[in-house]
Amino acid sequence: MSGLNGESSRILQNFIGGEYVDSIQTPCKYIPVTTPHTGEVIAQCPISTAEDVEKAVEAAKEAYKSWSARTVKDRVQTLFRFHNLLHTHIDELADLIVLEHGKNKAEAIASIAKGAETVEYATSLPQLIQGKILDVSKGVTCNDTRVPLGVVASIVPFNFPIMVPMWSLPIAIATGNTLILKPSEKVPLTMYRIVSLLKEAGVPDGVVNLVNGTVDAVNAICDHPDIKAVTFVGTSQVANLVMERCHKLGKRVLALGGAKNHLIASPDCNVETTSTDVVNSFSGCAGQRCMAASVLLIIGSQPELLERITDKAMALKPGSKSGEVGPVIDKASLDKITSYIEASEHGGANILVDGRSWTKSHTKGFWIGPTVIFHKNKEDKALHDEIFGPVLSIYQCSSKEEAIEIENNNPYGNAACIYTTTGATAEWFIKRFNAAMCGVNIGVPVPREPFSFGGINRSKFGNFVDITGDGGVEFFTWRRKVTTRWGQENLDPKL
Ligand code: NAD
Repeated sequence: MSGLNGESSRILQNFIGGEYVDSIQTPCKYIPVTTPHTGEVIAQCPISTAEDVEKAVEAAKEAYKSWSARTVKDRVQTLFRFHNLLHTHIDELADLIVLEHGKNKAEAIASIAKGAETVEYATSLPQLIQGKILDVSKGVTCNDTRVPLGVVASIVPFNFPIMVPMWSLPIAIATGNTLILKPSEKVPLTMYRIVSLLKEAGVPDGVVNLVNGTVDAVNAICDHPDIKAVTFVGTSQVANLVMERCHKLGKRVLALGGAKNHLIASPDCNVETTSTDVVNSFSGCAGQRCMAASVLLIIGSQPELLERITDKAMALKPGSKSGEVGPVIDKASLDKITSYIEASEHGGANILVDGRSWTKSHTKGFWIGPTVIFHKNKEDKALHDEIFGPVLSIYQCSSKEEAIEIENNNPYGNAACIYTTTGATAEWFIKRFNAAMCGVNIGVPVPREPFSFGGINRSKFGNFVDITGDGGVEFFTWRRKVTTRWGQENLDPKL
């Protein structure tokens, strides 16, 4: 496995005011970081406390004074250089992602490239965020400008070590805010490296700060009165907690949660392309994507489609080369995924492809292969809960009405997709899906820049804008309106 050679168990720090510093508490407590390939400990991540968050807030407040006073054109110069560094270091960064997360190398590179896209969007902000101006009455003009909020924070999950932090970081700082980032304690190494690249790119000390840790650091971020806004991405349960905690202080918060994405195969779908896309969607990144296929509803009996999906899923191999499927993040995740397969089996479902064979054949690490379950019972838990692993649950519906009813009744609202060769069928489903990101013949309908990334129901909590794109700009700024009259003649009624 690439990247593991030479890595010893590193003691990580925080990055505050442009320097790597130890967590303040003595003795400092750490949480071991493991590589999912073997389960070996590769680093120790500090469990920061409210005092560390306080220190980061002080550094970010100090940096805000001069950073917010710069023009947006000036601020984004650092992002042009950072974008360049992302690409010149892409191999090294991808190896870190492979090591700590388990994605295959091609997936890791693609995730960095997608993160780089939001940096590109942020470099366009000088062209995008100028305000409006209008003569609202004779001699009186009104204009608005966007104003940064101050110190903001971003709390991120394990499943995309660079891409998800990049949903907030570039826009937050380009609009003039200073940022505290709390990476996932499961994958802290990649952002640890990224902050040094930001420094090399010329981002001034204190503009981006890293506070590692878990629940205490998150709670301290939500509770700190000088942190003006928080973005969160993670499970729905924690997203809801973060939203409630921030709202108690009247804080701006955008908290993206989990997902249970439904794909629907119409009887007229193209069997070859549909089966390839469905398998890529549920098994890519070992199913650890909030946009991954989780449930496939087939309308009527489609034996050929089932056979092609089964064949393609069975052909996948474990590993970290392009097209191979990596391990899942940790033992808890592996156990959770396995328990859903077992419960489905006990409930009478057919396990068409059984990924548990990979767990048996790997004595080390957290491996489970692509698994395809054909359910007979609509109530099976695997059809309803977020599993977050390479598992596809298939259920056969008698009609399109039954399929849309099942999709609509799921409590999440991230993604949904219809596979069909007929425009009218596509339109029928798109108009009825209960999901914010919909696909036609696309199993991972992830919107790319300049579109924002969103969700509804239990997939998104808090202030109702989306993340990235213009939603991100709206979230990280407020609008100052100035109404102006020059020239005293306008006050003279004779004129
Ligand atoms: P998680 O909720 O366990 O952790 C997310 C962050 O919250 C981490 O930084 C973690 O340290 C912190 N955290 C965990 N428990 C906490 C608690 N009790 N109190 C306060 N903070 C806590 O999520 P995860 O397992 O790292 O990530 C996977 C989840 O993220 C999945 O549910 C996935 O669907 C979701 N996700 C959603 C999107 C989206 O756009 N909607 C994108 C990526 C991932």
